[in-house]
Amino acid sequence: MRTVNAYAAPSATEPLVPTTIERRDVGPHDVLIEIAYAGICHSDIHTVRGDWGDITYPQVVGHEIVGTVAEVGSEVTLHSVGDRVGVGCMVNSCRECVNCKAGMENYCLKGNIQTYNGIDRDGTVTQGGYSTHVVVVEDFVLRVPEAIPYETAAPLLCAGITTYSPLAHWNAGPGKKVAVVGLGGLGHLAVRIAAAMGAEVTVLSQSLKKQEDGLRLGASHYYATSDPATFDELANSFDLVINTVSAVLDLDAYLGLLALDGTMVNVGAPGEPLPLHVFTLFGNRRSFAGSGIGSIAETQEMLDFCAENGISAEVEVIAADQINEAYERVLASDVRYRFVIDTATLA
Ligand code: NAP
Ligand code: ZN
Ligand code: ZN
Repeated sequence: MRTVNAYAAPSATEPLVPTTIERRDVGPHDVLIEIAYAGICHSDIHTVRGDWGDITYPQVVGHEIVGTVAEVGSEVTLHSVGDRVGVGCMVNSCRECVNCKAGMENYCLKGNIQTYNGIDRDGTVTQGGYSTHVVVVEDFVLRVPEAIPYETAAPLLCAGITTYSPLAHWNAGPGKKVAVVGLGGLGHLAVRIAAAMGAEVTVLSQSLKKQEDGLRLGASHYYATSDPATFDELANSFDLVINTVSAVLDLDAYLGLLALDGTMVNVGAPGEPLPLHVFTLFGNRRSFAGSGIGSIAETQEMLDFCAENGISAEVEVIAADQINEAYERVLASDVRYRFVIDTATLA
Protein backbone atom coordinates (compact mmCIF):
# COMPACT_ATOMS: atom_id res chain seq x y z
CA MET A 1 0.00 0.00 0.00
CA ARG A 2 1.10 3.56 -0.54
CA THR A 3 -0.34 6.66 1.11
CA VAL A 4 -1.09 9.54 -1.26
CA ASN A 5 -2.56 13.03 -0.95
CA ALA A 6 -6.16 13.55 -2.02
CA TYR A 7 -9.23 15.77 -1.61
CA ALA A 8 -12.34 14.13 -0.16
CA ALA A 9 -15.97 14.89 0.58
CA PRO A 10 -16.55 14.20 4.31
CA SER A 11 -20.36 14.16 3.87
CA ALA A 12 -23.10 15.21 1.45
CA THR A 13 -23.30 18.69 2.90
CA GLU A 14 -19.75 19.66 3.92
CA PRO A 15 -17.04 21.15 1.67
CA LEU A 16 -14.33 18.84 0.31
CA VAL A 17 -11.14 18.79 2.42
CA PRO A 18 -7.51 17.66 2.01
CA THR A 19 -6.81 14.13 3.18
CA THR A 20 -4.64 11.08 2.49
CA ILE A 21 -5.78 7.76 1.01
CA GLU A 22 -4.23 4.35 0.43
CA ARG A 23 -3.51 3.02 -3.06
CA ARG A 24 -2.99 -0.70 -3.53
CA ASP A 25 0.40 -2.18 -4.37
CA VAL A 26 1.12 -2.48 -8.10
CA GLY A 27 0.01 -5.99 -9.09
CA PRO A 28 1.38 -7.92 -12.10
CA HIS A 29 -1.18 -6.35 -14.47
CA ASP A 30 -1.39 -2.92 -12.81
CA VAL A 31 -0.10 0.48 -13.81
CA LEU A 32 0.78 3.19 -11.26
CA ILE A 33 -0.08 6.62 -12.66
CA GLU A 34 1.29 9.88 -11.33
CA ILE A 35 -1.76 12.08 -11.89
CA ALA A 36 -1.12 15.47 -13.52
CA TYR A 37 -4.69 16.80 -13.84
CA ALA A 38 -8.19 15.67 -12.91
CA GLY A 39 -11.34 17.19 -14.41
CA ILE A 40 -14.42 18.08 -12.37
CA CYS A 41 -17.45 16.35 -13.87
CA HIS A 42 -20.99 17.22 -12.77
CA SER A 43 -21.29 13.49 -11.90
CA ASP A 44 -18.69 14.07 -9.14
CA ILE A 45 -21.05 16.65 -7.64
CA HIS A 46 -24.18 14.46 -8.06
CA THR A 47 -22.27 11.65 -6.30
CA VAL A 48 -20.88 13.52 -3.31
CA ARG A 49 -24.11 15.45 -2.73
CA GLY A 50 -26.09 12.18 -2.68
CA ASP A 51 -28.26 13.10 -5.72
CA TRP A 52 -28.05 9.49 -6.94
CA GLY A 53 -28.49 7.87 -3.52
CA ASP A 54 -26.44 7.26 -0.41
CA ILE A 55 -22.70 6.72 -0.71
CA THR A 56 -19.92 6.02 1.78
CA TYR A 57 -17.87 8.92 3.16
CA PRO A 58 -15.23 10.16 3.05
CA GLN A 59 -15.41 9.94 -0.75
CA VAL A 60 -12.66 10.89 -3.21
CA VAL A 61 -14.22 11.48 -6.62
CA GLY A 62 -12.77 12.38 -10.05
CA HIS A 63 -12.97 10.28 -13.21
CA GLU A 64 -11.23 12.44 -15.77
CA ILE A 65 -7.65 11.51 -15.00
CA VAL A 66 -4.48 12.13 -17.00
CA GLY A 67 -0.87 11.63 -16.03
CA THR A 68 2.34 9.72 -16.52
CA VAL A 69 3.04 6.04 -15.93
CA ALA A 70 5.34 5.84 -12.88
CA GLU A 71 5.55 2.05 -12.46
CA VAL A 72 4.25 -1.05 -14.23
CA GLY A 73 3.59 -4.59 -12.96
CA SER A 74 5.73 -7.51 -14.10
CA GLU A 75 3.19 -8.74 -16.71
CA VAL A 76 2.20 -5.36 -18.16
CA THR A 77 2.59 -5.13 -21.95
CA LEU A 78 0.31 -2.21 -22.93
CA HIS A 79 2.10 0.67 -21.16
CA SER A 80 5.63 1.66 -20.13
CA VAL A 81 7.07 3.99 -17.53
CA GLY A 82 6.90 7.57 -18.83
CA ASP A 83 3.87 7.02 -21.11
CA ARG A 84 1.14 9.69 -21.24
CA VAL A 85 -2.04 7.97 -20.11
CA GLY A 86 -5.59 8.55 -18.94
CA VAL A 87 -8.33 6.87 -16.92
CA GLY A 88 -12.04 7.58 -17.28
CA CYS A 89 -15.18 6.51 -15.43
CA MET A 90 -14.45 2.79 -15.09
CA VAL A 91 -11.42 0.82 -13.93
CA ASN A 92 -12.59 -2.75 -14.51
CA SER A 93 -15.58 -4.93 -15.41
CA CYS A 94 -16.64 -8.59 -15.03
CA ARG A 95 -14.94 -9.51 -18.37
CA GLU A 96 -17.33 -12.49 -18.76
CA CYS A 97 -20.81 -11.21 -19.60
CA VAL A 98 -22.08 -10.93 -23.16
CA ASN A 99 -21.52 -7.17 -23.24
CA CYS A 100 -17.98 -7.39 -21.86
CA LYS A 101 -17.20 -10.13 -24.39
CA ALA A 102 -18.54 -7.87 -27.14
CA GLY A 103 -16.05 -5.19 -26.05
CA MET A 104 -18.63 -2.96 -24.40
CA GLU A 105 -17.42 -3.00 -20.82
CA ASN A 106 -19.33 0.21 -20.10
CA TYR A 107 -22.50 -1.86 -20.43
CA CYS A 108 -21.18 -4.75 -18.27
CA LEU A 109 -24.25 -6.64 -17.05
CA LYS A 110 -22.78 -6.85 -13.56
CA GLY A 111 -22.13 -3.12 -13.65
CA ASN A 112 -18.76 -1.78 -14.77
CA ILE A 113 -16.45 -1.04 -11.84
CA GLN A 114 -16.51 2.70 -11.38
CA THR A 115 -13.35 4.74 -10.83
CA TYR A 116 -14.73 5.87 -7.47
CA ASN A 117 -17.40 4.66 -5.07
CA GLY A 118 -16.91 1.12 -6.40
CA ILE A 119 -15.26 -2.15 -5.37
CA ASP A 120 -12.54 -3.47 -7.65
CA ARG A 121 -12.19 -7.17 -8.51
CA ASP A 122 -9.51 -7.58 -5.83
CA GLY A 123 -11.89 -6.20 -3.18
CA THR A 124 -10.22 -2.79 -2.86
CA VAL A 125 -12.53 0.23 -2.67
CA THR A 126 -12.05 2.48 -5.68
CA GLN A 127 -11.19 6.15 -5.11
CA GLY A 128 -11.09 8.82 -7.76
CA GLY A 129 -8.71 11.21 -9.40
CA TYR A 130 -8.66 14.14 -6.97
CA SER A 131 -5.37 12.67 -5.76
CA THR A 132 -1.73 12.43 -6.77
CA HIS A 133 -1.54 8.76 -7.84
CA VAL A 134 -3.82 5.92 -8.88
CA VAL A 135 -3.28 2.20 -9.56
CA VAL A 136 -5.37 0.75 -12.42
CA VAL A 137 -5.29 -2.53 -14.34
CA GLU A 138 -3.49 -1.97 -17.65
CA ASP A 139 -6.34 -2.60 -20.09
CA PHE A 140 -8.52 0.12 -18.53
CA VAL A 141 -5.74 2.68 -19.04
CA LEU A 142 -5.91 4.79 -22.23
CA ARG A 143 -3.10 6.31 -24.31
CA VAL A 144 -3.26 10.12 -24.43
CA PRO A 145 -1.90 11.33 -27.79
CA GLU A 146 1.11 13.70 -27.70
CA ALA A 147 -0.88 16.29 -29.64
CA ILE A 148 -3.24 16.96 -26.72
CA PRO A 149 -1.90 18.84 -23.67
CA TYR A 150 -2.58 17.03 -20.40
CA GLU A 151 -4.90 19.65 -18.89
CA THR A 152 -7.20 19.91 -21.90
CA ALA A 153 -7.12 16.13 -22.43
CA ALA A 154 -8.46 15.28 -18.96
CA PRO A 155 -12.12 16.16 -19.69
CA LEU A 156 -12.09 13.92 -22.77
CA LEU A 157 -11.94 10.87 -20.47
CA CYS A 158 -15.56 11.38 -19.39
CA ALA A 159 -17.17 14.39 -21.09
CA GLY A 160 -15.46 13.55 -24.40
CA ILE A 161 -16.38 9.88 -24.59
CA THR A 162 -19.90 10.41 -23.21
CA THR A 163 -20.72 12.71 -26.12
CA TYR A 164 -18.56 11.04 -28.80
CA SER A 165 -20.22 7.66 -28.27
CA PRO A 166 -23.85 8.67 -29.04
CA LEU A 167 -22.73 11.03 -31.82
CA ALA A 168 -20.87 8.14 -33.48
CA HIS A 169 -23.59 5.56 -32.75
CA TRP A 170 -26.40 7.72 -34.18
CA ASN A 171 -24.26 8.73 -37.18
CA ALA A 172 -23.74 12.44 -36.65
CA GLY A 173 -22.07 13.55 -39.87
CA PRO A 174 -22.53 15.46 -43.11
CA GLY A 175 -26.20 16.17 -43.86
CA LYS A 176 -27.27 15.58 -40.24
CA LYS A 177 -28.76 18.26 -38.02
CA VAL A 178 -27.65 17.84 -34.42
CA ALA A 179 -28.83 19.87 -31.42
CA VAL A 180 -26.83 19.98 -28.20
CA VAL A 181 -28.84 20.92 -25.11
CA GLY A 182 -26.76 22.58 -22.37
CA LEU A 183 -23.39 24.21 -23.03
CA GLY A 184 -21.38 22.93 -20.07
CA GLY A 185 -18.59 20.36 -19.81
CA LEU A 186 -20.27 17.68 -21.91
CA GLY A 187 -22.09 20.13 -24.14
CA HIS A 188 -19.07 22.11 -25.32
CA LEU A 189 -17.27 18.91 -26.32
CA ALA A 190 -20.42 17.60 -28.01
CA VAL A 191 -20.42 20.75 -30.15
CA ARG A 192 -16.76 20.39 -31.10
CA ILE A 193 -16.99 16.67 -31.82
CA ALA A 194 -20.26 16.84 -33.79
CA ALA A 195 -18.91 19.73 -35.88
CA ALA A 196 -15.69 17.77 -36.56
CA MET A 197 -17.82 14.81 -37.66
CA GLY A 198 -19.39 17.13 -40.25
CA ALA A 199 -22.85 17.64 -38.73
CA GLU A 200 -24.71 20.97 -38.69
CA VAL A 201 -24.78 21.84 -35.00
CA THR A 202 -27.26 23.94 -33.02
CA VAL A 203 -26.78 24.85 -29.35
CA LEU A 204 -29.86 25.05 -27.13
CA SER A 205 -28.82 26.92 -23.99
CA GLN A 206 -30.89 28.53 -21.25
CA SER A 207 -29.84 32.00 -22.41
CA LEU A 208 -27.81 33.70 -25.14
CA LYS A 209 -24.96 34.50 -22.70
CA LYS A 210 -22.59 31.97 -24.26
CA GLN A 211 -23.64 32.45 -27.90
CA GLU A 212 -20.27 33.75 -29.08
CA ASP A 213 -18.51 30.77 -27.48
CA GLY A 214 -20.98 28.28 -28.96
CA LEU A 215 -20.40 29.58 -32.48
CA ARG A 216 -16.63 29.64 -31.96
CA LEU A 217 -16.74 26.02 -30.73
CA GLY A 218 -18.29 24.97 -34.04
CA ALA A 219 -22.06 25.48 -33.82
CA SER A 220 -23.84 27.06 -36.79
CA HIS A 221 -26.87 28.16 -34.75
CA TYR A 222 -27.55 29.11 -31.14
CA TYR A 223 -30.92 29.52 -29.43
CA ALA A 224 -32.14 30.37 -25.93
CA THR A 225 -34.54 27.81 -24.49
CA SER A 226 -35.95 30.49 -22.15
CA ASP A 227 -37.61 31.95 -25.28
CA PRO A 228 -40.74 29.89 -26.10
CA ALA A 229 -40.45 30.97 -29.76
CA THR A 230 -37.35 28.73 -30.02
CA PHE A 231 -39.52 25.63 -29.73
CA ASP A 232 -41.94 26.80 -32.45
CA GLU A 233 -39.18 27.84 -34.81
CA LEU A 234 -37.19 24.60 -34.46
CA ALA A 235 -40.10 22.12 -34.28
CA ASN A 236 -39.60 18.90 -36.34
CA SER A 237 -36.10 19.85 -37.47
CA PHE A 238 -33.34 17.73 -35.88
CA ASP A 239 -32.05 14.25 -36.67
CA LEU A 240 -30.35 14.00 -33.29
CA VAL A 241 -30.70 15.88 -30.01
CA ILE A 242 -28.07 15.26 -27.33
CA ASN A 243 -29.38 16.31 -23.92
CA THR A 244 -26.50 17.02 -21.53
CA VAL A 245 -28.56 18.84 -18.91
CA SER A 246 -27.97 17.82 -15.29
CA ALA A 247 -31.51 18.81 -14.21
CA VAL A 248 -35.05 17.70 -15.07
CA LEU A 249 -36.28 19.21 -18.36
CA ASP A 250 -39.64 19.30 -20.13
CA LEU A 251 -38.78 16.34 -22.39
CA ASP A 252 -41.86 16.69 -24.56
CA ALA A 253 -40.81 20.19 -25.59
CA TYR A 254 -37.39 18.90 -26.71
CA LEU A 255 -38.72 15.71 -28.33
CA GLY A 256 -40.96 17.94 -30.43
CA LEU A 257 -37.81 19.28 -32.08
CA LEU A 258 -37.05 15.90 -33.71
CA ALA A 259 -37.70 15.36 -37.42
CA LEU A 260 -39.00 12.05 -38.85
CA ASP A 261 -37.11 9.12 -37.27
CA GLY A 262 -35.06 11.50 -35.15
CA THR A 263 -33.57 10.44 -31.82
CA MET A 264 -33.06 12.33 -28.60
CA VAL A 265 -30.27 10.84 -26.52
CA ASN A 266 -30.19 11.65 -22.83
CA VAL A 267 -26.74 11.71 -21.32
CA GLY A 268 -27.62 14.18 -18.56
CA ALA A 269 -28.29 12.31 -15.33
CA PRO A 270 -30.57 14.10 -12.86
CA GLY A 271 -31.47 12.07 -9.79
CA GLU A 272 -35.21 12.34 -10.39
CA PRO A 273 -37.25 10.54 -13.09
CA LEU A 274 -37.84 12.39 -16.37
CA PRO A 275 -41.53 12.25 -17.36
CA LEU A 276 -42.56 12.19 -21.02
CA HIS A 277 -45.79 11.78 -22.95
CA VAL A 278 -45.70 8.82 -25.37
CA PHE A 279 -47.82 10.70 -27.91
CA THR A 280 -44.81 12.96 -28.48
CA LEU A 281 -42.91 9.85 -29.62
CA PHE A 282 -45.71 8.77 -32.01
CA GLY A 283 -45.30 12.00 -33.97
CA ASN A 284 -42.44 11.65 -36.49
CA ARG A 285 -41.75 8.09 -35.14
CA ARG A 286 -39.35 9.67 -32.65
CA SER A 287 -36.97 7.75 -30.36
CA PHE A 288 -35.87 8.59 -26.86
CA ALA A 289 -32.59 6.92 -25.85
CA GLY A 290 -29.90 6.94 -23.21
CA SER A 291 -26.15 6.42 -23.47
CA GLY A 292 -23.56 5.70 -20.78
CA ILE A 293 -19.93 6.77 -21.34
CA GLY A 294 -18.28 4.44 -23.94
CA SER A 295 -16.15 1.31 -24.14
CA ILE A 296 -12.40 1.31 -23.66
CA ALA A 297 -11.83 0.75 -27.40
CA GLU A 298 -14.22 3.57 -28.27
CA THR A 299 -12.56 5.87 -25.71
CA GLN A 300 -9.19 5.27 -27.40
CA GLU A 301 -10.84 5.88 -30.79
CA MET A 302 -12.25 9.17 -29.42
CA LEU A 303 -8.86 10.30 -28.08
CA ASP A 304 -7.24 9.58 -31.45
CA PHE A 305 -10.13 11.33 -33.28
CA CYS A 306 -9.71 14.39 -31.05
CA ALA A 307 -5.94 14.48 -31.64
CA GLU A 308 -6.42 14.22 -35.42
CA ASN A 309 -9.05 16.96 -35.41
CA GLY A 310 -7.34 19.33 -32.98
CA ILE A 311 -10.09 18.93 -30.39
CA SER A 312 -9.77 19.12 -26.64
CA ALA A 313 -11.61 20.82 -23.79
CA GLU A 314 -11.68 24.49 -22.87
CA VAL A 315 -10.56 24.45 -19.29
CA GLU A 316 -10.01 26.59 -16.23
CA VAL A 317 -7.11 25.06 -14.33
CA ILE A 318 -7.57 25.37 -10.57
CA ALA A 319 -5.68 24.50 -7.41
CA ALA A 320 -7.12 21.87 -5.09
CA ASP A 321 -8.25 24.49 -2.57
CA GLN A 322 -10.55 25.98 -5.25
CA ILE A 323 -12.58 22.76 -5.73
CA ASN A 324 -15.48 23.85 -3.52
CA GLU A 325 -15.79 27.20 -5.28
CA ALA A 326 -15.65 25.41 -8.64
CA TYR A 327 -18.52 23.12 -7.54
CA GLU A 328 -20.70 26.15 -6.81
CA ARG A 329 -19.90 27.63 -10.22
CA VAL A 330 -20.76 24.36 -12.00
CA LEU A 331 -24.08 24.25 -10.13
CA ALA A 332 -24.77 27.82 -11.25
CA SER A 333 -24.08 26.90 -14.93
CA ASP A 334 -21.04 29.19 -14.69
CA VAL A 335 -18.41 26.79 -16.02
CA ARG A 336 -16.34 27.77 -19.09
CA TYR A 337 -16.22 24.90 -19.85
CA ARG A 338 -14.50 22.44 -17.52
CA PHE A 339 -12.64 22.92 -14.25
CA VAL A 340 -9.47 20.87 -14.13
CA ILE A 341 -7.50 20.37 -10.91
CA ASP A 342 -3.72 20.71 -11.07
CA THR A 343 -2.89 17.79 -8.80
CA ALA A 344 0.58 19.23 -8.05
CA THR A 345 -1.35 21.52 -5.67
CA LEU A 346 -2.35 18.50 -3.58
CA ALA A 347 1.23 17.91 -2.47
P1 NAP B 1 -22.28 20.88 -16.54
O1 NAP B 1 -20.91 21.26 -16.96
O2 NAP B 1 -22.86 21.43 -15.29
O3 NAP B 1 -23.26 21.20 -17.78
C1 NAP B 1 -24.65 21.04 -17.72
C2 NAP B 1 -25.30 22.20 -18.48
O4 NAP B 1 -26.71 21.98 -18.46
C3 NAP B 1 -25.13 23.57 -17.85
O5 NAP B 1 -23.92 24.18 -18.18
C4 NAP B 1 -26.32 24.31 -18.38
O6 NAP B 1 -26.04 24.73 -19.72
C5 NAP B 1 -27.39 23.24 -18.47
N1 NAP B 1 -28.28 23.27 -17.29
C6 NAP B 1 -27.95 23.13 -15.99
N2 NAP B 1 -29.03 23.23 -15.21
C7 NAP B 1 -30.08 23.43 -16.03
C8 NAP B 1 -31.48 23.60 -15.83
N3 NAP B 1 -32.01 23.59 -14.59
N4 NAP B 1 -32.26 23.76 -16.92
C9 NAP B 1 -31.75 23.78 -18.15
N5 NAP B 1 -30.42 23.64 -18.40
C10 NAP B 1 -29.62 23.47 -17.36
O7 NAP B 1 -22.40 19.30 -16.36
P2 NAP B 1 -21.62 18.13 -17.16
O8 NAP B 1 -20.41 17.75 -16.42
O9 NAP B 1 -21.56 18.50 -18.60
O10 NAP B 1 -22.65 16.92 -16.96
C11 NAP B 1 -23.97 17.02 -17.46
C12 NAP B 1 -24.81 15.84 -16.99
O11 NAP B 1 -24.36 14.66 -17.64
C13 NAP B 1 -24.73 15.56 -15.49
O12 NAP B 1 -26.01 15.19 -15.04
C14 NAP B 1 -23.78 14.38 -15.42
O13 NAP B 1 -23.96 13.59 -14.28
C15 NAP B 1 -24.17 13.64 -16.66
N6 NAP B 1 -23.16 12.70 -17.17
C16 NAP B 1 -23.62 11.55 -17.72
C17 NAP B 1 -22.73 10.65 -18.27
C18 NAP B 1 -23.22 9.41 -18.96
O14 NAP B 1 -22.46 8.46 -19.11
N7 NAP B 1 -24.46 9.40 -19.42
C19 NAP B 1 -21.35 10.92 -18.21
C20 NAP B 1 -20.93 12.12 -17.66
C21 NAP B 1 -21.84 13.01 -17.14
P3 NAP B 1 -26.58 26.16 -20.30
O15 NAP B 1 -26.05 27.19 -19.34
O16 NAP B 1 -25.97 26.21 -21.65
O17 NAP B 1 -28.07 26.09 -20.32
ZN1 ZN C 1 -18.16 12.24 -15.66
ZN1 ZN D 1 -19.41 -7.77 -17.79
